[in-house]
Amino acid sequence: MKSMQVFFRCPCCEQTARGEVAVGIGGLSCGHCGGQLPVPDDALPDGQVKYCLVCHSHDLFVRKDFPQRLGVFIVALGFLLSAVAWYHYQIGWAFGILFATAGIDVLLYLLVGEALVCYRCHAHYRGVTPGDRQAAFDLETHERYRQLAARQGAPQQAAQDPHQANRGQVASTIAAKDE
Ligand SMILES: [Zn+2]
Ligand SMILES: [Zn+2]
Repeated sequence: MKSMQVFFRCPCCEQTARGEVAVGIGGLSCGHCGGQLPVPDDALPDGQVKYCLVCHSHDLFVRKDFPQRLGVFIVALGFLLSAVAWYHYQIGWAFGILFATAGIDVLLYLLVGEALVCYRCHAHYRGVTPGDRQAAFDLETHERYRQLAARQGAPQQAAQDPHQANRGQVASTIAAKDE
């Protein structure tokens, strides 16, 4: 079975981490802090991702795994070469190069595989086979998760911040000593 790549925001250290997963591997580890995310075997049936391995949300959307930078580079190179041809009065070459680079971009788009992206935590899965229930990006679902995140965001973070909790504890210990 081909390996699957995951790009995710580590829940422990909040950095963007990259990992490889396959059935039976058991866990996904973060290269920054060494934190482990357990990967249940039932989450990966037949090279598919049933639900997000990071936040366990079932809402994932399918998108083309197009290498944006490479696409931009090819177009830029095409413009440059065509400008050189234009400068040397090679009009035919100038247009030919432009059409060829546009064609390469289209071909690249058709050839690249698909990726899955989690609406909730934006984890990115490459080298996967999209499941039946997984469709292209849906603005309504995206909006639902965005609003949910906005509503939960601030108060939840404050409650989970271990430094804040510690400070509160230290303060109450000091207060108890004074008595
Ligand atoms: Zn981490
Ligand atoms: Zn997720």
